[in-house]
Amino acid sequence: MHDPTITQLSLVRQLKFCAGHRLYRHESRCAFFHGHNYRVDLEVVGAHGGVEVDDVGRIIDFSLIKQRMLGWLDDHWDHAFLIYEEDENALAAIKLVEPVKYFVMPENPTAENMARYLLEVVAPHVLADLGVVARQICLWETAESCAVATLGRQQRTIASEPPREAVILDSRNMVQA
Ligand SMILES: [Zn+2]
Repeated sequence: MHDPTITQLSLVRQLKFCAGHRLYRHESRCAFFHGHNYRVDLEVVGAHGGVEVDDVGRIIDFSLIKQRMLGWLDDHWDHAFLIYEEDENALAAIKLVEPVKYFVMPENPTAENMARYLLEVVAPHVLADLGVVARQICLWETAESCAVATLGRQQRTIASEPPREAVILDSRNMVQA
């Protein structure tokens, strides 16, 4: 993406959300239903890399990254339960709950797989028209532990598939604030 002999500018925006999950086939307590206050550090670079900035001197305005990426997280992962699509037992259980919001993951919802999903599927989709590329996602599961997904130098950055959507079942007539 960029010439390794020149300066590379990037931005990092911190984003937060809360979600529940369990780790399918985990040998210890992570197999129980539980949740985390997650933090995402999203690093973006300009589509052409290097030191390219706009007339104001920005790669992109921070507020646009927040709007797109936090918007997606709020809609699909925040206050949702993340379940691996092969975890039939958890899927059967969540379907008994109402109101509920859950998101079926193509892989086990470890911090690693969540970081990779955000980097490879969500970010290319939500940032597509902004002229920036997500280079790295650090997904903090606790204040001490994060998983890091970094785009390979030759990796294509166009999303091949749109992200999945949260399932929301809610028969209440909620008044949206
Ligand atoms: Zn956990």
